[in-house]
Amino acid sequence: MLVIRLAIRGNAAARPLLSASFQLSSCSYTSSAAAAHAERTVREGPRNDWARDEIKSIYDSPVLDLLFHGAQVHRHAQNFREVQQCTLLSIKTGGCSEDCSYCPQSSRYNTGLKAQKLMTKDDVLQAAQKAKEAGSTRFCMGAAWRDTIGRKTNFNQILEYVKEIRGMGMEVCCTLGMLEKQQAVALKEAGLTAYNHNLDTSREYYPNIITTRSYDERLKTLEFVRDAGINVCSGGIIGLGEAEEDRVGLLHTLATLPTHPESVPINALIAVKGTPLQDQKPVEIWEMIRMIATARIVMPKAMVRLSAGRVRFSMPEQALCFLAGANSIFTGEKLLTTPNNDFDSDQLMFKLLGLIPKAPSFEEGALKDCMEENCEEAVSVTG
Ligand code: SF4
Repeated sequence: MLVIRLAIRGNAAARPLLSASFQLSSCSYTSSAAAAHAERTVREGPRNDWARDEIKSIYDSPVLDLLFHGAQVHRHAQNFREVQQCTLLSIKTGGCSEDCSYCPQSSRYNTGLKAQKLMTKDDVLQAAQKAKEAGSTRFCMGAAWRDTIGRKTNFNQILEYVKEIRGMGMEVCCTLGMLEKQQAVALKEAGLTAYNHNLDTSREYYPNIITTRSYDERLKTLEFVRDAGINVCSGGIIGLGEAEEDRVGLLHTLATLPTHPESVPINALIAVKGTPLQDQKPVEIWEMIRMIATARIVMPKAMVRLSAGRVRFSMPEQALCFLAGANSIFTGEKLLTTPNNDFDSDQLMFKLLGLIPKAPSFEEGALKDCMEENCEEAVSVTG
């Protein structure tokens, strides 16, 4: 064990031991792909030239070895005790024209969900304040839309919400469907920290899940977000009936983007009655651990977010996810429309596991603007 730690920290003499087979006094150890790639990630930092086979070999490594090496990269690239708490609020629920097979908000499925209009400013700001008081440092607003084109009034209202919440000293994220270039720019000017737009699954499996917009349209939105200078939040969902190869394909697409997403949510499907995926069997914890540790090794600087489905995992199971490399969670009673872990049990978990809430971070320029506008709260939180 000591030898392995020396190698990871860059001891040149010990390093070759990690990528070779070697004998300990009573056992033989054969280095896994996870070990070799984790060592390379630690040595060279993030890379965007991952071959799909390389990611597959990491994903297929013995699970405890994968977990161990995900943890090694995590400790090298991140503050391993810090966990970002984000609160996600559905500010416009249901009635969506898209056909995402997992989503109770699609108007095509009979899930009993009542469609609602865009929430008022007062209600949204009140929810943001409550989230902040509960320790959340990022507030995410979700609207069930295909896109924001032709929704000028609503979009302008959302810009207003972004400005206000940013002024409260929180990071602000939106997920509003597909964006046009100009809308991404407007969101950036309003102070948006991050935009969420998930790829959901691999390019190959994607048409089994959604037919109303293409994989390339999704990638285009991510490009507009990136070009506007907004952080990219993009991940996927497992448990949609995809093969392991598709999980690898999703991670490969994300890890070979010109810049890795700053956040990578890993969701486990919560099968909702009335959706086409209502009978999917629940994702097992080992599947989550494989996804999280692989994501951590191939995208070491990203915040890897243990997202939907967390509610079904026990505290020890979540602890394994944090060990494997997850460092962000959603807090709050609901994740858009599905249940989430309650506040008290999350507080207890942080205490028991020795986790620390991550403070919000703002770009220097943005913080300067904010200071000039006397956003005292933001300064005290980040300072
Ligand atoms: S995931 Fe988003 S785009 Fe798809 S149906 Fe649900 S709300 Fe609409």
